[in-house]
Amino acid sequence: MAICLVGIGSNLGNRAETLQNACRLLEHHPAITALIASRWHTSQPVGGPTGQQPFLNGALRLQTSLEPDELLALLQTIEDRLGRTRQQRWEARTLDLDLLLYDQHITHDARLQLPHPRLAFRRFVLEPAVEVAGELVHPELGWTIAQILDHLNRTPAYLALAGPPGTGKRWLADQLCQTYDGHFLADPASNRSTGQPLEREVEFVRTRAQQLAAHVAQHDQETLLVSDYWIDQSHGYAQLEQSFDAATQLEAALDVLKPKLPLPRLIAWLDAPADVLKKHLTKHRTAMDWKIEQLESLRKAFAERFDRGGHGPVLRLDASQPEMCLTELSAAFLAMQPAS
Ligand code: ADP
Ligand code: MG
Repeated sequence: MAICLVGIGSNLGNRAETLQNACRLLEHHPAITALIASRWHTSQPVGGPTGQQPFLNGALRLQTSLEPDELLALLQTIEDRLGRTRQQRWEARTLDLDLLLYDQHITHDARLQLPHPRLAFRRFVLEPAVEVAGELVHPELGWTIAQILDHLNRTPAYLALAGPPGTGKRWLADQLCQTYDGHFLADPASNRSTGQPLEREVEFVRTRAQQLAAHVAQHDQETLLVSDYWIDQSHGYAQLEQSFDAATQLEAALDVLKPKLPLPRLIAWLDAPADVLKKHLTKHRTAMDWKIEQLESLRKAFAERFDRGGHGPVLRLDASQPEMCLTELSAAFLAMQPAS
Protein backbone atom coordinates (compact mmCIF):
# COMPACT_ATOMS: atom_id res chain seq x y z
CA MET A 1 0.00 0.00 0.00
CA ALA A 2 1.36 3.40 -0.99
CA ILE A 3 0.76 6.50 1.11
CA CYS A 4 -0.40 9.36 -1.09
CA LEU A 5 -1.21 13.01 -0.83
CA VAL A 6 -3.80 14.49 -3.18
CA GLY A 7 -4.63 18.17 -3.66
CA ILE A 8 -8.29 18.97 -4.21
CA GLY A 9 -9.85 22.26 -5.29
CA SER A 10 -12.92 23.83 -6.87
CA ASN A 11 -13.93 27.35 -7.96
CA LEU A 12 -16.99 26.67 -10.10
CA GLY A 13 -20.51 25.53 -9.18
CA ASN A 14 -21.35 24.23 -5.71
CA ARG A 15 -17.77 23.97 -4.52
CA ALA A 16 -18.26 22.31 -1.12
CA GLU A 17 -20.70 19.75 -2.51
CA THR A 18 -18.31 18.83 -5.35
CA LEU A 19 -15.39 18.37 -2.93
CA GLN A 20 -17.57 16.16 -0.70
CA ASN A 21 -18.70 14.07 -3.67
CA ALA A 22 -15.10 13.60 -4.83
CA CYS A 23 -14.11 12.41 -1.33
CA ARG A 24 -17.03 9.95 -1.27
CA LEU A 25 -16.04 8.47 -4.65
CA LEU A 26 -12.45 8.00 -3.51
CA GLU A 27 -13.45 6.57 -0.11
CA HIS A 28 -15.70 3.96 -1.72
CA HIS A 29 -13.11 2.84 -4.25
CA PRO A 30 -12.06 -0.76 -3.46
CA ALA A 31 -8.31 0.00 -3.87
CA ILE A 32 -8.32 3.02 -1.52
CA THR A 33 -8.30 3.02 2.28
CA ALA A 34 -7.62 5.32 5.23
CA LEU A 35 -8.69 8.52 3.50
CA ILE A 36 -8.32 11.63 5.68
CA ALA A 37 -9.44 15.05 4.43
CA SER A 38 -8.22 18.45 5.62
CA ARG A 39 -10.59 21.34 6.27
CA TRP A 40 -11.55 23.33 3.18
CA HIS A 41 -9.61 26.59 2.84
CA THR A 42 -10.68 29.59 0.75
CA SER A 43 -7.98 31.01 -1.54
CA GLN A 44 -7.72 33.48 -4.40
CA PRO A 45 -7.08 32.04 -7.87
CA VAL A 46 -3.47 32.38 -9.06
CA GLY A 47 -2.57 32.66 -12.78
CA GLY A 48 -5.02 31.77 -15.54
CA PRO A 49 -7.85 33.89 -16.97
CA THR A 50 -8.97 36.84 -14.83
CA GLY A 51 -12.40 37.16 -13.22
CA GLN A 52 -12.42 33.73 -11.56
CA GLN A 53 -14.20 33.03 -8.27
CA PRO A 54 -12.18 32.11 -5.17
CA PHE A 55 -11.23 28.47 -4.68
CA LEU A 56 -12.10 26.04 -1.96
CA ASN A 57 -8.93 24.00 -1.50
CA GLY A 58 -8.05 20.98 0.56
CA ALA A 59 -5.70 18.03 0.84
CA LEU A 60 -6.43 14.31 1.06
CA ARG A 61 -4.18 11.68 2.51
CA LEU A 62 -4.93 8.12 1.48
CA GLN A 63 -3.51 4.64 1.05
CA THR A 64 -3.83 2.73 -2.16
CA SER A 65 -2.81 -0.46 -3.95
CA LEU A 66 -3.12 1.37 -7.29
CA GLU A 67 0.03 2.18 -9.25
CA PRO A 68 0.82 5.92 -9.72
CA ASP A 69 -0.57 6.07 -13.28
CA GLU A 70 -3.69 4.15 -12.23
CA LEU A 71 -4.31 6.56 -9.38
CA LEU A 72 -3.85 9.56 -11.70
CA ALA A 73 -6.31 8.00 -14.18
CA LEU A 74 -8.82 7.50 -11.34
CA LEU A 75 -8.43 11.13 -10.24
CA GLN A 76 -9.04 12.29 -13.82
CA THR A 77 -12.12 10.07 -14.16
CA ILE A 78 -13.55 11.61 -10.99
CA GLU A 79 -12.76 15.13 -12.27
CA ASP A 80 -14.65 14.34 -15.50
CA ARG A 81 -17.58 12.78 -13.68
CA LEU A 82 -17.96 15.88 -11.53
CA GLY A 83 -18.15 18.27 -14.45
CA ARG A 84 -14.52 19.18 -15.18
CA THR A 85 -13.94 20.60 -18.66
CA ARG A 86 -10.55 21.56 -20.14
CA GLN A 87 -10.11 24.40 -22.61
CA GLN A 88 -7.49 26.72 -21.20
CA ARG A 89 -4.68 26.30 -18.71
CA TRP A 90 -5.47 27.36 -15.13
CA GLU A 91 -9.08 28.19 -16.01
CA ALA A 92 -12.01 27.95 -13.54
CA ARG A 93 -12.88 24.32 -12.75
CA THR A 94 -15.59 22.41 -10.89
CA LEU A 95 -12.90 20.04 -9.62
CA ASP A 96 -9.12 19.76 -9.69
CA LEU A 97 -7.44 16.68 -8.25
CA ASP A 98 -3.64 16.74 -8.25
CA LEU A 99 -1.44 13.84 -7.23
CA LEU A 100 1.07 15.59 -4.98
CA LEU A 101 3.01 12.71 -3.43
CA TYR A 102 3.02 8.97 -4.09
CA ASP A 103 5.28 7.48 -1.44
CA GLN A 104 8.80 8.60 -2.34
CA HIS A 105 8.32 8.25 -6.11
CA ILE A 106 10.12 10.68 -8.41
CA THR A 107 9.21 10.93 -12.11
CA HIS A 108 9.38 13.80 -14.58
CA ASP A 109 7.06 12.50 -17.31
CA ALA A 110 4.84 15.14 -18.93
CA ARG A 111 1.79 12.97 -18.21
CA LEU A 112 2.66 12.35 -14.58
CA GLN A 113 5.16 14.33 -12.55
CA LEU A 114 5.96 13.25 -9.01
CA PRO A 115 6.19 14.95 -6.64
CA HIS A 116 3.78 17.45 -8.21
CA PRO A 117 6.07 20.17 -9.66
CA ARG A 118 4.25 23.04 -7.92
CA LEU A 119 3.65 21.39 -4.54
CA ALA A 120 6.58 23.01 -2.75
CA PHE A 121 5.64 26.65 -3.27
CA ARG A 122 1.86 26.77 -3.34
CA ARG A 123 0.51 28.01 -0.06
CA PHE A 124 -3.02 26.93 -1.02
CA VAL A 125 -1.70 23.36 -1.27
CA LEU A 126 0.69 23.33 1.71
CA GLU A 127 -1.63 24.92 4.28
CA PRO A 128 -4.29 22.19 3.98
CA ALA A 129 -1.61 19.52 3.45
CA VAL A 130 0.06 20.10 6.85
CA GLU A 131 -3.25 19.23 8.51
CA VAL A 132 -3.14 15.66 7.19
CA ALA A 133 0.45 15.01 6.09
CA GLY A 134 2.81 17.38 7.91
CA GLU A 135 5.36 14.58 8.46
CA LEU A 136 5.41 13.21 4.90
CA VAL A 137 8.75 13.84 3.19
CA HIS A 138 9.13 15.52 -0.21
CA PRO A 139 11.60 13.11 -1.85
CA GLU A 140 13.42 15.73 -3.93
CA LEU A 141 13.80 18.37 -1.23
CA GLY A 142 14.37 15.97 1.65
CA TRP A 143 12.07 18.17 3.75
CA THR A 144 8.71 17.35 5.33
CA ILE A 145 5.55 19.16 4.23
CA ALA A 146 5.60 21.03 7.57
CA GLN A 147 9.20 22.13 6.97
CA ILE A 148 8.35 23.41 3.50
CA LEU A 149 5.48 25.54 4.81
CA ASP A 150 7.69 26.79 7.61
CA HIS A 151 10.28 27.78 5.00
CA LEU A 152 7.67 29.89 3.14
CA ASN A 153 6.66 31.55 6.38
CA ARG A 154 10.18 32.40 7.57
CA THR A 155 12.17 33.31 4.47
CA PRO A 156 12.25 36.75 2.83
CA ALA A 157 10.45 37.04 -0.54
CA TYR A 158 13.73 36.40 -2.31
CA LEU A 159 13.75 34.57 -5.65
CA ALA A 160 17.08 33.35 -7.01
CA LEU A 161 17.32 32.68 -10.73
CA ALA A 162 19.74 29.86 -11.44
CA GLY A 163 21.00 28.34 -14.64
CA PRO A 164 23.79 28.60 -17.20
CA PRO A 165 24.44 31.77 -19.22
CA GLY A 166 21.99 32.40 -22.08
CA THR A 167 18.84 31.41 -20.16
CA GLY A 168 17.46 34.96 -20.03
CA LYS A 169 17.73 35.42 -16.26
CA ARG A 170 18.30 39.15 -16.44
CA TRP A 171 15.22 39.76 -18.61
CA LEU A 172 13.09 37.57 -16.35
CA ALA A 173 14.32 39.31 -13.17
CA ASP A 174 13.61 42.70 -14.75
CA GLN A 175 10.08 41.74 -15.76
CA LEU A 176 9.23 40.38 -12.33
CA CYS A 177 10.61 43.41 -10.52
CA GLN A 178 8.69 45.79 -12.75
CA THR A 179 5.41 43.91 -12.28
CA TYR A 180 5.66 43.34 -8.52
CA ASP A 181 7.62 46.40 -7.46
CA GLY A 182 10.65 44.31 -6.59
CA HIS A 183 14.38 44.96 -6.32
CA PHE A 184 16.67 43.48 -8.92
CA LEU A 185 19.93 42.21 -7.49
CA ALA A 186 22.10 42.21 -10.62
CA ASP A 187 24.99 39.78 -10.71
CA PRO A 188 28.24 41.65 -9.97
CA ALA A 189 29.97 39.03 -12.15
CA SER A 190 27.79 39.53 -15.21
CA ASN A 191 30.55 41.13 -17.27
CA ARG A 192 33.18 38.53 -16.52
CA SER A 193 35.67 37.93 -19.27
CA THR A 194 37.45 34.81 -20.51
CA GLY A 195 40.51 33.45 -18.80
CA GLN A 196 39.85 35.01 -15.42
CA PRO A 197 41.57 33.34 -12.51
CA LEU A 198 39.40 31.57 -9.97
CA GLU A 199 40.31 34.13 -7.30
CA ARG A 200 37.94 36.44 -9.15
CA GLU A 201 35.14 33.89 -8.69
CA VAL A 202 35.81 33.90 -4.94
CA GLU A 203 35.58 37.67 -5.05
CA PHE A 204 32.26 37.45 -6.90
CA VAL A 205 30.90 35.10 -4.27
CA ARG A 206 31.81 37.61 -1.55
CA THR A 207 30.23 40.51 -3.44
CA ARG A 208 27.04 38.54 -4.09
CA ALA A 209 26.84 37.55 -0.42
CA GLN A 210 27.25 41.18 0.66
CA GLN A 211 24.63 42.36 -1.81
CA LEU A 212 22.15 39.73 -0.62
CA ALA A 213 22.70 40.33 3.08
CA ALA A 214 22.37 44.11 2.65
CA HIS A 215 19.09 43.90 0.72
CA VAL A 216 17.53 41.38 3.07
CA ALA A 217 18.40 43.58 6.05
CA GLN A 218 17.08 46.70 4.34
CA HIS A 219 13.60 45.52 3.25
CA ASP A 220 10.60 44.02 4.98
CA GLN A 221 10.01 40.30 4.56
CA GLU A 222 7.41 40.56 1.79
CA THR A 223 9.33 42.93 -0.51
CA LEU A 224 10.25 41.02 -3.64
CA LEU A 225 13.99 40.57 -4.24
CA VAL A 226 15.16 38.86 -7.42
CA SER A 227 18.76 37.99 -8.23
CA ASP A 228 19.93 36.79 -11.64
CA TYR A 229 22.40 34.53 -9.85
CA TRP A 230 22.34 31.78 -7.27
CA ILE A 231 25.03 31.71 -4.64
CA ASP A 232 25.75 28.00 -5.29
CA GLN A 233 26.39 28.45 -9.00
CA SER A 234 30.08 29.13 -8.38
CA HIS A 235 30.61 25.42 -7.76
CA GLY A 236 29.83 24.84 -11.43
CA TYR A 237 32.15 27.61 -12.56
CA ALA A 238 34.91 26.21 -10.37
CA GLN A 239 34.68 22.91 -12.25
CA LEU A 240 35.38 24.71 -15.52
CA GLU A 241 38.76 25.77 -14.16
CA GLN A 242 39.84 22.16 -13.62
CA SER A 243 42.16 23.28 -10.89
CA PHE A 244 41.77 21.27 -7.72
CA ASP A 245 43.32 23.96 -5.51
CA ALA A 246 41.16 26.72 -6.91
CA ALA A 247 38.00 24.65 -6.52
CA THR A 248 38.87 23.81 -2.91
CA GLN A 249 39.45 27.48 -2.18
CA LEU A 250 36.06 28.35 -3.59
CA GLU A 251 34.30 25.58 -1.62
CA ALA A 252 35.91 26.94 1.55
CA ALA A 253 34.70 30.48 0.84
CA LEU A 254 31.16 29.25 0.20
CA ASP A 255 31.17 27.15 3.38
CA VAL A 256 31.90 30.27 5.43
CA LEU A 257 29.50 32.61 3.63
CA LYS A 258 26.44 30.47 2.97
CA PRO A 259 25.29 29.80 6.54
CA LYS A 260 25.02 33.57 7.08
CA LEU A 261 22.73 34.04 4.09
CA PRO A 262 19.00 33.39 3.86
CA LEU A 263 17.93 30.55 1.58
CA PRO A 264 15.89 31.86 -1.34
CA ARG A 265 12.16 31.40 -0.79
CA LEU A 266 12.24 29.85 -4.27
CA ILE A 267 14.95 29.01 -6.77
CA ALA A 268 13.94 29.13 -10.43
CA TRP A 269 16.19 26.77 -12.34
CA LEU A 270 16.32 27.72 -16.01
CA ASP A 271 17.71 25.34 -18.56
CA ALA A 272 17.77 24.75 -22.33
CA PRO A 273 19.92 22.77 -24.78
CA ALA A 274 23.43 24.26 -25.16
CA ASP A 275 22.87 25.31 -28.80
CA VAL A 276 19.81 27.33 -27.75
CA LEU A 277 21.90 29.04 -25.03
CA LYS A 278 24.71 29.72 -27.49
CA LYS A 279 22.28 31.31 -29.98
CA HIS A 280 20.85 33.54 -27.27
CA LEU A 281 24.34 34.60 -26.14
CA THR A 282 25.45 35.37 -29.68
CA LYS A 283 22.34 37.50 -30.23
CA HIS A 284 22.97 39.49 -27.06
CA ARG A 285 26.74 39.67 -27.57
CA THR A 286 27.97 39.15 -24.02
CA ALA A 287 31.54 39.90 -23.00
CA MET A 288 32.45 36.25 -22.64
CA ASP A 289 32.68 33.96 -25.63
CA TRP A 290 31.13 30.77 -24.25
CA LYS A 291 31.95 27.48 -25.91
CA ILE A 292 29.26 24.83 -26.33
CA GLU A 293 31.32 22.39 -24.18
CA GLN A 294 31.56 24.96 -21.37
CA LEU A 295 27.81 25.53 -21.48
CA GLU A 296 27.21 21.75 -21.42
CA SER A 297 29.51 21.41 -18.44
CA LEU A 298 27.68 24.18 -16.56
CA ARG A 299 24.29 22.62 -17.36
CA LYS A 300 25.53 19.35 -15.92
CA ALA A 301 26.88 21.08 -12.81
CA PHE A 302 23.50 22.72 -12.14
CA ALA A 303 21.66 19.43 -12.63
CA GLU A 304 23.99 17.64 -10.19
CA ARG A 305 23.57 20.38 -7.62
CA PHE A 306 19.77 20.29 -7.79
CA ASP A 307 19.59 16.48 -7.80
CA ARG A 308 21.32 16.56 -4.45
CA GLY A 309 18.42 18.52 -2.87
CA GLY A 310 18.49 20.50 0.36
CA HIS A 311 18.20 23.90 -1.33
CA GLY A 312 14.50 24.34 -0.65
CA PRO A 313 11.78 24.73 -3.29
CA VAL A 314 12.95 24.67 -6.90
CA LEU A 315 10.89 25.53 -9.99
CA ARG A 316 12.28 24.02 -13.20
CA LEU A 317 11.77 26.23 -16.23
CA ASP A 318 12.35 25.73 -19.94
CA ALA A 319 14.46 28.74 -20.94
CA SER A 320 13.66 28.28 -24.63
CA GLN A 321 10.17 29.62 -23.78
CA PRO A 322 10.79 32.97 -22.01
CA GLU A 323 7.13 34.09 -21.85
CA MET A 324 6.14 30.76 -20.32
CA CYS A 325 8.94 31.17 -17.74
CA LEU A 326 7.52 34.56 -16.78
CA THR A 327 3.97 33.19 -16.49
CA GLU A 328 5.12 30.25 -14.35
CA LEU A 329 7.35 32.31 -12.10
CA SER A 330 4.75 35.06 -11.60
CA ALA A 331 2.16 32.45 -10.61
CA ALA A 332 4.67 30.82 -8.25
CA PHE A 333 5.50 34.14 -6.59
CA LEU A 334 1.80 34.94 -6.08
CA ALA A 335 1.10 31.43 -4.73
CA MET A 336 3.80 31.87 -2.06
CA GLN A 337 2.47 35.13 -0.67
CA PRO A 338 0.64 35.15 2.64
CA ALA A 339 -3.09 36.00 2.44
CA SER A 340 -3.49 39.75 2.91
P1 ADP B 1 -3.14 22.23 -12.74
O1 ADP B 1 -3.56 21.20 -11.78
O2 ADP B 1 -1.69 22.54 -12.71
O3 ADP B 1 -3.98 23.46 -12.70
P2 ADP B 1 -4.49 20.69 -14.76
O4 ADP B 1 -5.16 19.93 -13.69
O5 ADP B 1 -5.34 21.43 -15.75
O6 ADP B 1 -3.40 21.67 -14.20
O7 ADP B 1 -3.55 19.77 -15.63
C1 ADP B 1 -3.26 18.51 -15.30
C2 ADP B 1 -2.28 17.96 -16.35
O8 ADP B 1 -1.03 17.78 -15.72
C3 ADP B 1 -2.75 16.63 -16.85
O9 ADP B 1 -2.55 16.60 -18.24
C4 ADP B 1 -1.84 15.63 -16.18
O10 ADP B 1 -1.53 14.52 -16.99
C5 ADP B 1 -0.60 16.42 -15.87
N1 ADP B 1 0.06 16.00 -14.62
C6 ADP B 1 1.38 15.74 -14.50
N2 ADP B 1 1.69 15.39 -13.25
C7 ADP B 1 0.55 15.45 -12.52
C8 ADP B 1 0.26 15.20 -11.16
N3 ADP B 1 1.20 14.83 -10.29
N4 ADP B 1 -1.02 15.35 -10.75
C9 ADP B 1 -1.97 15.75 -11.63
N5 ADP B 1 -1.76 16.00 -12.95
C10 ADP B 1 -0.50 15.85 -13.40
MG1 MG C 1 -4.74 19.44 -11.84
